[in-house]
Amino acid sequence: MSAKPLVQYFALGGTIATTPTESGAMKMGLGADDLLRMVPALASVAEVRGETVAKLGSSNLTIDVMLGLAQRIEGLPRTGADAPVGVVISQGTDTLEETSFVLDCVLDATLPVALTAAMRNPSLTSADGAGNLLASVRSVASPWLRAHVRDIGVVVTFLDHVLAPFDVAKTETSRIDTFRSPATGPLATLIEDRVVPLSLPVRDWKRAVDAALGPHPATRLLAAGRKPVALLCSTLDEPGHMIDALLAHPKHLGYAGVVVAGTGGGHVPDGHVERLTALNRSIPVVIASRTGGGPLLASTYDGAGSEINLRRVGLIFAGRLHALKTRLLLELLLRGGVDRAGIARVFAACG
Ligand code: ASP
Repeated sequence: MSAKPLVQYFALGGTIATTPTESGAMKMGLGADDLLRMVPALASVAEVRGETVAKLGSSNLTIDVMLGLAQRIEGLPRTGADAPVGVVISQGTDTLEETSFVLDCVLDATLPVALTAAMRNPSLTSADGAGNLLASVRSVASPWLRAHVRDIGVVVTFLDHVLAPFDVAKTETSRIDTFRSPATGPLATLIEDRVVPLSLPVRDWKRAVDAALGPHPATRLLAAGRKPVALLCSTLDEPGHMIDALLAHPKHLGYAGVVVAGTGGGHVPDGHVERLTALNRSIPVVIASRTGGGPLLASTYDGAGSEINLRRVGLIFAGRLHALKTRLLLELLLRGGVDRAGIARVFAACG
């Protein structure tokens, strides 16, 4: 009988790792080994080596935690009996679409990595954590993911779907089927003991990120320290006082860049244009869409606050990348010392 494939598992916390208190409220408690014990079926799929990295709610995870994890993943043995065939990470659902995207930006896509979580805590009927963990281990151990890892990169495995971090979003607060990729759909679906491929993701953006950040950037990006990026949202009748505050402060309130989740295809109220243009002279201002989906416009509307206007005054457009992820990518590029032209090149590759 052949030995089971070895999978490395890192537990970061989240609902999947909670236990009930006396009051019935849930609090962080379970570590990697506790979680693995909840899934006896794993034994027939892989040998899973677990490590508890953190017991945090996912709103307390940071870019640094994820870069540190990327370093750990890159340091795993690649040959020999100790070399895992893939990596599984569990955490909270609240920031899963962001953390998975950070890892996808910085890892070199040579080892399958799947992130997962749970919407229902372990004390509830039909808790989904154990099934998601099993599906994640199945995903990273699957011949398909291993064969195509360079084309796929990091994945999110949730409710028997394999999803791309670039596209996936938590779309509802509490539903078990909250994780969706509205524009593209899942990459694969799990059924019986198989991972059934559905599609391969478009990864032009990843090639551009790799070219901008260079190989194995996690250590350098960690050493560079924080370059916080503010996320503003264009809303009906918003006076723009937050832009004023960023402009008036000598260090822009400590922000190194700004993402504006604009309306529709990339628009802002016309009264914001001059101030955003002024801000963009000091720190990069990138326009995304508050709609959360679809490519930005380039040549449809003219006039103050339109996409033609904003592009003409030199603001960078984020393609079809969600504003939450645009913010993360901008911080990674700033940490990497990428200049404005380089930043624009990366976002131009985002669709
Ligand atoms: N608040 C939790 C977290 O993100 C929610 C979850 O795990 O579903 O850590």
